[in-house]
Amino acid sequence: MKYEEVSTARAWREVDLGAVAHNAAWLQGRMGPECRLMAVVKADAYGHGAGPVARYLEEQGVKAFAVACLSEGISLRRQGVEGLILILGYTPPEEAAELARWGLTQCVADEAHGRALSAAGVPLEVHLALDTGMHRLGIPAEDHGAIARTRALTNLKFTGTFSHLCVSDSARPEDLAFTQVQLDRFYGAVARMAAAGLDPGAVHIQASYGILNLPHQPCAWARAGIALYGVYSREEDRPNSDALRPALSLRTRVAALRTVPAGEGAGYGLAFRARGDTKLAVVTVGYADGLPRMLAQAGGEVLIRGVRCPMAGRMCMDQLLVDVTGVPQTDPGDVVTLIGRDGGAEIRAEEVAARCGTITNELLSRLGNRLPIQYCP
Ligand SMILES: *Cc1c(COP(=O)(O)O)cnc(C)c1O
Repeated sequence: MKYEEVSTARAWREVDLGAVAHNAAWLQGRMGPECRLMAVVKADAYGHGAGPVARYLEEQGVKAFAVACLSEGISLRRQGVEGLILILGYTPPEEAAELARWGLTQCVADEAHGRALSAAGVPLEVHLALDTGMHRLGIPAEDHGAIARTRALTNLKFTGTFSHLCVSDSARPEDLAFTQVQLDRFYGAVARMAAAGLDPGAVHIQASYGILNLPHQPCAWARAGIALYGVYSREEDRPNSDALRPALSLRTRVAALRTVPAGEGAGYGLAFRARGDTKLAVVTVGYADGLPRMLAQAGGEVLIRGVRCPMAGRMCMDQLLVDVTGVPQTDPGDVVTLIGRDGGAEIRAEEVAARCGTITNELLSRLGNRLPIQYCP
C-alpha cells in the first residue's frame, strides 16, 4: 500500500521495519552460535504484512521463513521471497504439485500424511514434525518405528526435523520440567535417527518464548513469531527493559464531534450515559477492522493529541465513540492512536490484549485487510 493511499485512509496500520530488524538481531543474539532465525510470517506476519516484512528481512540476511499454509507460502514466493519457506501446518496431498512448483518445504504432520504426500508421486522437500507432548502435529517422538517407516517413503526429501513447545512461556516448576521432557524426547529422537543412519537435517524446536526463556539450543533454526514484532504475548511477560521494540501502530481519525448533555445516552443500546456535558468524537474504526468489539466496554482507551481518552459505549462495526471531554481542542481529522505512541503517551498491544482477555498474537493477527499498511524504514 502506497503512502498516498494510507494518508487518506480512514484507519491504517504503520509498521516500523527498523523495529523488526532490531528485534530480529536481538533474538539472533539470544540463540546459540550455530542457530539461525526462522521468521514466522504466518497470518500476514501477525498483521504486519507478510510480503513486505519477509522481503525486508531477507535483505537483512534472514534465510528462512515459516507460514501456516500453502496459500501463504505461494503468496511469499509471488512477492519475491527466495529463502526457505516452511509450511508449519497440514497441506492436503492433492496440492503436492503446487508445493513442488513453488519450492515450498512441507511439514509432515504424521505417518499417514507422509504416506499420502509420498503417494502423490511428486518429489517434495519436507521437514518431519515430532510430537514431544503438545499432541497437535507430529509423529510421537518415542515411536522410532513410525519415524523410520516415514523416513523410508519415496518422493520425500527430509531436510529438517522439528517439534513445538507448549509451556515454554511459563515459569511454573511443573512447566519448566515438562519443557525439559519435551527437549529430551526431541533430542532423543534426533539421536536415534542419526544412529540409524537417517540424517535429521536442520533441527528446530524453539518459538519466541523458547528463545526468550531457554538457554542456547543445539539447533539449526529457531522460529520466532510474536517476539519478532516486538511484542510479548501477555502484558505480565514484559520485562522492564525495552529490549524488543513494537513494530506496529494502529491509527484512525476523528470523523465528527458532538456534545451531549448530562444524562443523555449514546451509541447502540445507549450503553454510554453522559455523567456531565460530554464531548464525543466519532472515530473511523470498528470491529470489522479486526478490533475486539468488547474493547470499548472493557476500559479501552485511545490517544488523541498525546492524551488518553476513554472509548464510550459499544463499538460499532465501522465506527467507535470516544469521550474527548478532556481534550476540548480535538478537531475533525485528528489522528487517533489505538496501538502505538502519540507524543509522550503510548498504548501497547499487550495492554489492549489484556483488556480483552486474549493474547497479542490473536489481537494482531486479526487486524483486518481493510487497514492499509504504511511501512517506515
Ligand atoms: C506460530 C508458530 C510459531 C511462532 O510462535 P510465536 O510464539 O509467535 O513465536 C513457531 N512454531 C510453530 C509450529 C508455530 O505454529
